Amino acid sequence: MPEIQNVPDQNGNGIGNNNALLGKYEVGRLLGCGAFAKVYHARNVSTGQSVAIKVISKKKISATSSLMSNIKREISIMRRLNHPHIVKLHEVLASKTKIYFVMELVKGGELFAKVAKARFTEDLSRRYFQQLISAVGYCHSRGVFHRDLKPENLLVDENGNLKVSDFGLSAVRGQVRHDGLLHTLCGTPAYVAPEILTKKGYDGSKVDVWSCGVVLYVLNAGYLPFNDPNLMAMYKKIYKGEYRCPKWFSPDLKRFLSRVLATDPEKRITVNEILSDPWFKKGYKEVTYYEEVEKEEEPKFKDLNAFDLISFSSGLDLSGLFVDSDNSVTDGMRLVLAESPEKVVEEVEEFAKADENNLRVRRKKEWGVELEGQDGNLAIGVEVYRLTDDLVVVEAKKRGGDVGPYKDMWNNKLRPRLVGGLRAQPGTSSQQVPQTS
Ligand code: AMP
Repeated sequence: MPEIQNVPDQNGNGIGNNNALLGKYEVGRLLGCGAFAKVYHARNVSTGQSVAIKVISKKKISATSSLMSNIKREISIMRRLNHPHIVKLHEVLASKTKIYFVMELVKGGELFAKVAKARFTEDLSRRYFQQLISAVGYCHSRGVFHRDLKPENLLVDENGNLKVSDFGLSAVRGQVRHDGLLHTLCGTPAYVAPEILTKKGYDGSKVDVWSCGVVLYVLNAGYLPFNDPNLMAMYKKIYKGEYRCPKWFSPDLKRFLSRVLATDPEKRITVNEILSDPWFKKGYKEVTYYEEVEKEEEPKFKDLNAFDLISFSSGLDLSGLFVDSDNSVTDGMRLVLAESPEKVVEEVEEFAKADENNLRVRRKKEWGVELEGQDGNLAIGVEVYRLTDDLVVVEAKKRGGDVGPYKDMWNNKLRPRLVGGLRAQPGTSSQQVPQTS
């Protein structure tokens, strides 16, 4: 099964008239709103499993190619994160205007709704902090940084355990078009590390440790360490590391906090040092988690995932790639065919044998076939990727020789042959290789 499915665009909340997303999820009430997304309760129709679906409007995302490759990279990492204190991402769906993240549903609400009612004891705060550090350490060791740890991202499950959401989504978040005002209104900067304020570039792991320190303070105190109605004054306090501990903080907690909230990132405690700190270690049970072992046979043809698709199509708009549900459509030098990759490769080989140019054919493991003219004037790669069980994307790439023969070969010979010979539909013959090489 592909990692992403393209879903028709729908109305209202983006979920559709009959509240069914792709016929697969029954979408229910709004669970919450973040700075750039809405989160709905939903139920998988076939399994009955309850999930949370985060809907991000593509309008809110600056559609640059670097964003798309970032998203693609981060989502593929996030899908592999498997830790008891990290919200699991099940799948990603996309329509023309929205991206849907289908996630594990966390039923106990936000951690900070609880602390807002009454501050926690030091032991309970420590327990949550241990779970937070366990999740953060797990992600850091995989090169994933949150960079935006704050109350909304800390949820509690029905057993009272912490679940961190949005790990790995920093590329998506980073591209959201905030103006300063929106940022101040929606997301408090109270959790931001001093080095971010100076805009000199920062280390993701150190920034996350700082935010964990702010969280730890809030759990124990019931209020923020750095706070001021005046934003500049708040920034100043963060920058100088000016906070005061209430009298009920134990000396050991104060000592520990001063290491976590060290303004100099070089002097700040690291996750590894936290793990061996006496205050932290008290009652700490190391979390066991299981790595997913991917035993799959190496695929002969690459399967495309959500973000391959998004980066294939311009401006995050997948509609160019999927006009008809039943069959093929072209996208410049790409072609979507209702065929198996093996059949497409065979067809290209047949074509090459019959071509008057006496083409040399080389099968390429993992991606398709390369055709080369005898005089070195032409080399064209025909890349074949499995899109779904029934569809493939065929993409022509000039791998050598001149532009003219390449365009002639694809536009006038190979493409019509594939479109005509394999299961293709009307409308596929109009698009050709763009004029640039
Ligand atoms: P976010 O955009 O991640 O800040 O989410 C906004 C709000 O939606 C959160 O503050 C939660 O109240 C809720 N929420 C987010 N993810 C989930 C989830 N996986 N399960 C339940 N509620 C969630």
